[in-house]
Amino acid sequence: MKKPFALALVAGILTIMSCNTQNNPTVGDFASYPTYTKGDLGLTYTLKASTIKLWAPSADSVRLNIYDQGADSPAIESVQMERGPKGTWKATLKGDRKGQFYTFNVFTEGRMLAETPGVWNKAVGVNGLRAAIIDLADTNPEGWENDQRREVENYTDIVIYEMHHRDFSISENSGITNKGKFLALTEQGTRTTEGLASGIDHLKELGITHVHILPSYDYGSIDEAHLEQGNYNWGYDPKNYNVPEGGYSTDPFTPEVRIREMKQMVQALHKAGIGVIMDVVYNHTFVNDGSNFSLTVPGYYYRQTEEGDYSNASGCGNETASERPMVRHYIVESVKYWAREFHIDGFRFDLMAIHDIETMNAVRAELDKISTDIFVYGEGWMAGGSPLAGELQASKHNGKLFPRVAVFSDDIRDGLRGEWMNAGEGGFATGKVGERQKESIKFGVVGATEHPEVDYSKVNYSSAAYANDPVEVINYVSCHDDECLRDKIATVAKDAGAEQQKRMDLLAQTVVLTSQGVPFIFCGEELYRTKQGIRNTYNQPDEINRIDWSHKSTHNDVFTYYRELIRMRRSHPAFRMATTEQVAENLHFVESPEGTVVYTLNGAAVGDEWSEIIVVLNGNRGGVNVALPAGEWNIVCEDAKMNLDAPRAFAGGKFWVHGTSALIAYR
Ligand code: CA
Repeated sequence: MKKPFALALVAGILTIMSCNTQNNPTVGDFASYPTYTKGDLGLTYTLKASTIKLWAPSADSVRLNIYDQGADSPAIESVQMERGPKGTWKATLKGDRKGQFYTFNVFTEGRMLAETPGVWNKAVGVNGLRAAIIDLADTNPEGWENDQRREVENYTDIVIYEMHHRDFSISENSGITNKGKFLALTEQGTRTTEGLASGIDHLKELGITHVHILPSYDYGSIDEAHLEQGNYNWGYDPKNYNVPEGGYSTDPFTPEVRIREMKQMVQALHKAGIGVIMDVVYNHTFVNDGSNFSLTVPGYYYRQTEEGDYSNASGCGNETASERPMVRHYIVESVKYWAREFHIDGFRFDLMAIHDIETMNAVRAELDKISTDIFVYGEGWMAGGSPLAGELQASKHNGKLFPRVAVFSDDIRDGLRGEWMNAGEGGFATGKVGERQKESIKFGVVGATEHPEVDYSKVNYSSAAYANDPVEVINYVSCHDDECLRDKIATVAKDAGAEQQKRMDLLAQTVVLTSQGVPFIFCGEELYRTKQGIRNTYNQPDEINRIDWSHKSTHNDVFTYYRELIRMRRSHPAFRMATTEQVAENLHFVESPEGTVVYTLNGAAVGDEWSEIIVVLNGNRGGVNVALPAGEWNIVCEDAKMNLDAPRAFAGGKFWVHGTSALIAYR
């Protein structure tokens, strides 16, 4: 089944890749290729010499080209590399070569392949065409040695905020100087035109714990030499996996700058108590035959169809082959590099089901050696058929086989907003409140875990729990794909007025932020953003994608509600239990009127100062009476308003829950 992300990307990449050649990849006897995992592939720089190694077992010879510019200049030197052990090639350049650039030409099967900076480079010139010789130590900002990633006790304590660099800062009214850059997230004290906090101060005020940044490695769709054109792209078109994207730096020509500025961003977010999660797209590359993978070891990094063509589970023209040892090694080493060198706090794997389970377990195990604070999750689906057997895929249905790696729950997402493939159809939050929606919400409430009170046969796309524990699921109602929440609601609930549509938005996020599991919100939803109804905005102009910061004033009610919901979640462990046993024992559903989901939480059992909590989710557009057990209750959420600090007292008995709203009470 195709997923929204895939559809978006298919449309996007086909346009971008019109120049791509579609020759058959070379199908070699890949199993016979020796593997090399010593850890010194790429550049080893010292003042006395630069040693460069490449793994290219199918090459007959390899030429190394040296340049003094990152692009558009003739080679100043070229060297034949020496054959080393296990399919490697080596060249040693004497003297201090800092500031120079290099590429490889691989000769194989009687032809010379086009130049490539290789796959192990960590620094590049403009547009990622040539690898750069740098000293990584030069890229560390002041105080970097004291920078630490965010500590995490349980992954369910995390609140994720998914953001694109340009969306967040590009507006005139963002108050941010470094618009669309890594440095935007280093600016303190920025204000909207109306004087409210923006930028990093806004994130602190909102209370999220982790920023998930859309692809920030070097991608291919933006011309870094002409950033003045102001082009926009999400960046799901990987070029150099271990280098930050030049378009987000203030100088894409000087290789150290993008690395330093990304580290400055991480450092500033860490100082603000916020972790940084990278969106990683190892499942495909921007181009096929012309990719750095293909120009180094033709065919090896990709899966093939029986006819020998590129298989296409990504919907983007190719899919990588993580089951092959050097591809798995590459993915694992790449995330380790980002975690160590950039102090990254988490990784979100795009189309994760394209990767095999063994690879995701290896990623988790190797990252654990660096820090168990690092969170890993991904899309548990793919965008087309794959030669990889179903039982090997890191799909959500196999979720229990790769523990402590979370998957996105499209079940709760579409239960709340409506099925993605039926554009005009709504979900629980917009008043479509059938059994299917109700059980999908309950499935989300228990964090996709095994719970005796959920009827899994009625859940949207799953017939069983896929999380071993609630730390293994991402609950969300919107992300960069498809309509943002406000636009989706406007589409499926045209008949509702503006005020009621806003209540639908608040109800949907109430479910996300009170459910067990790891909540995830899309940047700008807290400001009631709109993308003007456009579903797939991967290359739309800033006018469509940017956050209009004036919304923080005009829709301050939405912002305040989101902020208070997050504050409640972070203050109360009952909403973020870490184990399936805790959820099964302490969360119970209550018989309730049609179109509602009602459950209680035993806060006392998990150390919450709210010893008993009741949550009523009313998807009906009209109000309903719900019976609260007798005794004094404190109402902290009702009629689409949060009231954490001055809860209203209620003596129990019949309680009128307004249409399209939640009731949250404790005692
Ligand atoms: Ca780029």
